Amino acid sequence: MIGILGGSGLYGLPIDEIKEIVMDTPFGPPSGPIIKGKLGGKTVHFLARHGPGHTVSPSEINYRANIYAMKSLGVSQLLSFQAVGSLKEELRPRDIVIPDQVIDRTRGRTSTFFQGGIVAHVGFADPFCKHLSEILFEASAEDHRTHKGGTYLVMEGPAFSTRAESHLYRSWGADIIGMTCLPEAKLAREAEICYGAVSTVTDYDVWKEEDVSVEMIISNIKANEDAVIDIVMKVVPRLEAPGRCSCNSAMAGAVITSTDSIPEDKRKDYELLIGKYL
Ligand SMILES: [Zn+2]
Repeated sequence: MIGILGGSGLYGLPIDEIKEIVMDTPFGPPSGPIIKGKLGGKTVHFLARHGPGHTVSPSEINYRANIYAMKSLGVSQLLSFQAVGSLKEELRPRDIVIPDQVIDRTRGRTSTFFQGGIVAHVGFADPFCKHLSEILFEASAEDHRTHKGGTYLVMEGPAFSTRAESHLYRSWGADIIGMTCLPEAKLAREAEICYGAVSTVTDYDVWKEEDVSVEMIISNIKANEDAVIDIVMKVVPRLEAPGRCSCNSAMAGAVITSTDSIPEDKRKDYELLIGKYL
């Protein structure tokens, strides 16, 4: 099962036999209804992470509910699309980056399913599924200027960076900057879902000493939307059942809390995520 997380612009996806699924999770409701349908002969589940009409800010997104909802629908491969700023000259606006690393500069977002009586430490050295990222890169590079690998710095927002911050992140070696890749990627790993990201560059952030206007960014976002739809159309038919990576066993040995110490009510909520290990 394939899941797609995107901005509201991805409503342009040519999905057939659409069914809108409104659901709730033990972590609250997801950003909006999940659109289930057929694309390229496969079943896909699409969720706009900012909600229909773009009403949910990056800080307000219930990332846990979004990932849990995808998991409960049987999604095993999740394609994540997000607009980013570039921190490198060679990553031009309207280029595409398939990131392979992240730096977390978010604040106050709940970035784990495991708390309140259950503790787990999942491996996150490589935040993205390598196999899925490879397929995304190959499909994207066919017709778009695409960069393989890159470090995605996730900032809290919603205001953009100061110039000092932008220079600091460049000095750290970060390639792109955005607001939504975390905790999404962490939660997908905890849910043992393959997670691959496609980052579309909208601007040069502010390190180039040019003011970043919202109008300019929006116009590049619109241009990038066509590229993203093209990439989805190419990638979805090529996805096979996962198995060439270890994402679906990421939680093996990760739960530290002894099974008999896990509260009974928690067990029910966590059955979907780690039932096979309890
Ligand atoms: Zn994987």
